Amino acid sequence: MKLCFTFDLRNIIFFSALIMIGQPLLGYGVRPSFTCTDNPLEEIYPNQNMCALLSSIPPALRNLPYAMYPNSDVYNTNRFGFNKRFNFFPAAIFIPTNEAEMITVYKALVQNNLPFALRSGGHCFGPGSLSTGYVIDLRNFNAIVPDTNNNTVYIGAGSRLGDVISALGPLNYAIPTGDCPSVGVTGLTLGGGIGFLARQYGLTCDNVVNIRLLTALGTIITVDADNYPDLFWALCGAGAGAFGVVLGFTFTMHYVPEVSYISVHWDWDPAQATQIFNAWQTWTTTLPTTISTECVLGYRIDPIKKTGTSRVTLNALKVGSEPFTEWQSVFSQFNPIIDTNYHGNYIGAAKKFASTPIAPFSKVKSKMLFQPLSQAGLQVLTAFFSQLQENPCDIRVNFFFGSMLNGAISKSNSNSSFFPRSAFGYVFQFAYWFHEKQATQTINLLRQIYRDLEPYFSPYSYANLIDFELGASYLDAYYGGNVNRLIQVKNKYDPTNIFHWEQSIPLTYVPQSPINQAIGQKYCSKFINR
Ligand SMILES: Cc1cc2nc3c(=O)[nH]c(=O)nc-3n(C[C@H](O)[C@H](O)[C@H](O)COP(=O)(O)OP(=O)(O)OC[C@H]3O[C@@H](n4cnc5c(N)ncnc54)[C@H](O)[C@@H]3O)c2cc1C
Repeated sequence: MKLCFTFDLRNIIFFSALIMIGQPLLGYGVRPSFTCTDNPLEEIYPNQNMCALLSSIPPALRNLPYAMYPNSDVYNTNRFGFNKRFNFFPAAIFIPTNEAEMITVYKALVQNNLPFALRSGGHCFGPGSLSTGYVIDLRNFNAIVPDTNNNTVYIGAGSRLGDVISALGPLNYAIPTGDCPSVGVTGLTLGGGIGFLARQYGLTCDNVVNIRLLTALGTIITVDADNYPDLFWALCGAGAGAFGVVLGFTFTMHYVPEVSYISVHWDWDPAQATQIFNAWQTWTTTLPTTISTECVLGYRIDPIKKTGTSRVTLNALKVGSEPFTEWQSVFSQFNPIIDTNYHGNYIGAAKKFASTPIAPFSKVKSKMLFQPLSQAGLQVLTAFFSQLQENPCDIRVNFFFGSMLNGAISKSNSNSSFFPRSAFGYVFQFAYWFHEKQATQTINLLRQIYRDLEPYFSPYSYANLIDFELGASYLDAYYGGNVNRLIQVKNKYDPTNIFHWEQSIPLTYVPQSPINQAIGQKYCSKFINR
């Protein structure tokens, strides 16, 4: 998905600044005492009572050098995640530097019965890693240690995809990840992990060898297919903020010396868009596993000219040294505009498919497709993009359709709770906007197009694209027939629900409606109640 930061120097400076900014002599901007005078937070947010927040912190959690408190200079920039839509004021953000500090913070939070969220890369689209209680931020657990003798790599929980690609690329190795370098490895892995290497090597979670985990009991264990296999299964696909604190993973890494990557687009013509999309849908069923593709219907406003343009884009990556010619025989007839035609190493390709910074506010929705999108569904979609082009709207919207069929993703994996393995593909819908006040209008627009498209999609969604609008049906939508077993694992390893947020695995399950169960059987019978 071409969505966010490039690997260029600006990002290195940006991310370094974010890290450096928080490390003055007294730790992360900690002031010498818990004073309520000289109050930066209330200067910015007059309705926030910093004194109340500070005085609510129990003594064991005060004055920690690896914490950001509401009276520190860096608190305000660090309380947000990637999506600036969510405005939470935690009492403190803890950024432990080692396992001993992690255990200290965790035990103090539990002993004082305090709510907290876990944050690794902070790229949850919803407020899954934010809290009005406390935040434990794993950014300091960022070691990346490749072992070329065993084709494995240890990756600390706070690492980001760009760090991983940059560390393994020079060795000609890679693990399958998503496409956006600033996304955290941990969140991505715990919910699946879909990207351009997945049809060849599987989802990110399929490549996990073991997981270092701080459990609800406050002890650190190593979880793998032989030790705690039920917990391993649950973590690999449904593990976000539900079973313990992931401290790091060992992954299988793959030798990927050469790849090809193409990105081509067409300016908007609804009739041609329909033909291209149909050609892509047919093409995806014929592809070898070495090729992963996505077809994107998108709209963006030119912020200066205030003109909007819709377009169709085809992105595809092929693993291997052979020239990537397969796409031409299908798409050349439509006269594409070629933006990228790259052959070289994987890190070079990753620089191409990562993109420039985008607007601060976003909303995402997703659906898994178990069959190609019908012509009626496609008509709704093309009409939507034609309408946007004719009536410019100050937003960016992309519908990413990706192929999942007939590759490593589709293989049954008894070590993973990722549910929709038999899907034909996915559709991820992203909307971005620049000003806070545009939120209602944009979200309403998305709701409307989703309502119109719902009949053409399956009821399943992707657990990594958090959508709170799924309401109580989120368990069924993300985890289908795996829900009962996930709840059993939850009761076994976290029986008091210490790890929870709005869409985590709960201790009890209100069964879905018989209609939804029937749909589940139809689409995913192979995988139900395994
Ligand atoms: C711009 C963008 C591009 C994306 N592209 C892709 C893509 O190409 N492919 C794809 O599959 N997904 C993609 N995603 C979705 C992404 O995988 C999820 O948003 C993922 O959850 C982000 O992980 P994170 O660590 O950055 O997030 P965080 O916000 O830190 O955490 C996400 C979830 O994991 C839990 N969590 C965090 N740390 C821990 C921990 N240490 N232990 C246990 N639980 C923890 C949190 O409670 C939260 O529920 C993208 C998201 C964005 C914003």
